[in-house]
Amino acid sequence: MAFAQLGLNPLVVKAVEASGYTQPTAVQAQSIPATLEGTDLLVSSQTGSGKTAAFMLPCLHRLDQPSALPGRGPRVLVLTPTRELAAQVEESVRTYGHFLPLKTALVFGGVGIGPQIKALKGGVDILVATPGRLLDHVGQGTVDLSGIEILVLDEADRMLDMGFIHDIRKVLALVPKQKQTLLFSATF
Ligand code: AMP
Repeated sequence: MAFAQLGLNPLVVKAVEASGYTQPTAVQAQSIPATLEGTDLLVSSQTGSGKTAAFMLPCLHRLDQPSALPGRGPRVLVLTPTRELAAQVEESVRTYGHFLPLKTALVFGGVGIGPQIKALKGGVDILVATPGRLLDHVGQGTVDLSGIEILVLDEADRMLDMGFIHDIRKVLALVPKQKQTLLFSATF
């Protein structure tokens, strides 16, 4: 199967092909068509399986379509357990979103909050965050999660292992009820 057969936006396919990938991995081939249909998904996937592109490509596809709630903050939220993973996910937005006019922000703890606030003020389509710092921003009123259309929980098992369950529950209460949820986990 080729990437072009998955139903993705041609500009997304062009960026994937420019990365040198010719064929979707198994997790991509299985999850991308289902994600494009708008269903919630639980995906079992290991690091190295191509899971980041599996959720990011359909997110980018969605963002190239007009928002139902324009001007209400980020439309896609990706939660990750660690800052390293958050940085990798954000890098994938740059790679696969190369031909799309998208804004992304990266929010994690252990560093100054000021530059993150500035980035959020500039308007953001995709927000990649670790749970604790995201809630700090919510508390300060520097991010509005009421326009989230797709919520991705990346490495959800690690987030639970690291004790983020309460933070994740709080985030779930802040995003719209009507949204698509994609949960990626190595174990269930
Ligand atoms: P991940 O599972 O998201 O950590 O991805 C593992 C690695 O596979 C990353 O370096 C990706 O750039 C790469 N990758 C993602 N999709 C593909 C693909 N379809 N073909 C080959 N490599 C890929």
